Amino acid sequence: MKNIAVLDESTIDKIAAGEVIERPSSVVKELVENAIDAGATAVTAEIKDGGISLIRITDNGEGIAKDQISTAFLRHATSKITKVEDLLSVSSLGFRGEALSSIAAVCQVEVITKTAGTLLGTRYRIEGGQEILTEEIGAPDGTTFLVNNIFYNTPARKKFLKSAMTEAGYISELMERMALSHPEIAFKFINNRQTRLHTSGNHNLKDIIYGIYGRDIAANLLPVKAEGAFGRLEGFVGKPVISRGNRNFENYFVNGRYVKSKIITKAIEDAYKTFMMQHKYPFTALHFTIPGDLLDVNVHPTKLELRFSNQEEIYQIVYDTVRQALSSRELIPDVGVER
Ligand code: ADP
Ligand code: MG
Repeated sequence: MKNIAVLDESTIDKIAAGEVIERPSSVVKELVENAIDAGATAVTAEIKDGGISLIRITDNGEGIAKDQISTAFLRHATSKITKVEDLLSVSSLGFRGEALSSIAAVCQVEVITKTAGTLLGTRYRIEGGQEILTEEIGAPDGTTFLVNNIFYNTPARKKFLKSAMTEAGYISELMERMALSHPEIAFKFINNRQTRLHTSGNHNLKDIIYGIYGRDIAANLLPVKAEGAFGRLEGFVGKPVISRGNRNFENYFVNGRYVKSKIITKAIEDAYKTFMMQHKYPFTALHFTIPGDLLDVNVHPTKLELRFSNQEEIYQIVYDTVRQALSSRELIPDVGVER
């Protein structure tokens, strides 16, 4: 006879964690998004061994009150929505309340956090979903997450990680996108004690592009701007001379979130069609600000794929705006850098 039984909590948590936490870069993504949601103006991500042995995310955001910390680590615990209708107007990057519980299920986690209103902060440790310690401690305002030994209790998952160098590469790419998506936040990324990325948070997107992609790219950008009932579109597209053989340079962000959208990609590429050779793809760094009720970000757990309720309108706006940027300027390469 087969015995059918409900799984125990710890097994359920580990399985659920697999949906959100696939590799070290998933931990960094979730924790940096939480830092942004907490209103941080400076966020530092530090990793060792590709994030496999250590990930440390420090922010100067609002912090977590002592009596809230263990709740924050419960599954489906969030301060960002309270009912399903809130999904229509949610402006935070997170809202599912799944990240902290997932990370704690498969890592050893320490949090040091302090809210502005209190004298002392809190140190909290949780490993494999088990609380280890809560104590008061002196700390600056904000939150530091220390995440050690990802998948230490799920060896089958650990086996699927790539080399430290490859994992570090994923995190580096992620941090670049975070910096591009939030020019108002100062980001720092440190890999094995070496600073790999440092942005100033001065709101200047071009400075960030320069810092990440270098002078040749920054010198060949065309500004893009449009505003209307759909919201706002702003940023840069590259002149056709800096196109490349893959889509890695096609970055766009909707309401501060790096996303994929077939509609936006198609509109951008269609706009470039007559300006570019086949199998070449443009550089773009575009920021969309779109009212929440025109979006569905709830399509996928990692929220990468985005849906619009007004697909055709978005297509037309992106196409027209990019097209206009490309047509309105000389397309020969610039030698100097305008900054
Ligand atoms: P979500 O982001 O979907 O709400 P998480 O599991 O990522 O879920 O976080 C749970 C809650 O913990 C958040 O809603 C927030 O209130 C709190 N929190 C997490 N990280 C931070 C942080 N860096 N600063 C302040 N509060 C945080
Ligand atoms: Mg979150």
